[in-house]
Amino acid sequence: MNIILFGPPGAGKGTQAENITKFFKFYKISTGDLLRNEIYKKTDIGNEIKSTIAKGSLVSDKIINNLIEKILSDKKYYNRIIFDGYPRNLEQAKNLDLLVEKYDQRISCVLSLNVDKELIIKRILGRQICTKCGLIFNEYFNPSTDKKHKCDTKFLVKRSDDNEKTILQRYKTYLDKSLPILNHYKKLNLLHEIDGKTEIDQIFDKISRIMASLEA
Ligand SMILES: [Zn+2]
Repeated sequence: MNIILFGPPGAGKGTQAENITKFFKFYKISTGDLLRNEIYKKTDIGNEIKSTIAKGSLVSDKIINNLIEKILSDKKYYNRIIFDGYPRNLEQAKNLDLLVEKYDQRISCVLSLNVDKELIIKRILGRQICTKCGLIFNEYFNPSTDKKHKCDTKFLVKRSDDNEKTILQRYKTYLDKSLPILNHYKKLNLLHEIDGKTEIDQIFDKISRIMASLEA
């Protein structure tokens, strides 16, 4: 079983991907990691990627498809992949359909974490990190209190790029780009929409139940 995980920035996708890799012994594959790895190893593709990014252009679907094929053809990952942040467009999704078939595998489910934009704004804008001890809080959902946290509140800071306009833009981009892909998987009866408003544990519980039902 291979899984695709979708969700806007701030939906907790990273945490859930980590949970799935840990509890179900999956490999998380993100194209960002694959690209960085090629650059790091200074392969031919890596050098090409590096100059593409330096020019401010997007890495081509052809390169992405090649890197994904390398993973799918590797026995180590056989039917144990969770794709995070991929496919990014309909062409990549269709190519993935062909690749899984070619390597005798399948996409078993597509999990989409749904969160409305007000919640995402609060999750991201409310995020605070203590510069003294490194603990992370959220002023709306998990505020720093005397019980939980010993340091002075003056050490709590927010990430500067997390302003509302940027968050809304990223959210809109996500919706625009993901809708055609989600529709594609909906037609294939693979789409599971999950309420991302609930607690991390509850979301993972839901994911676990979906995965169990697929294994059966
Ligand atoms: Zn602290």
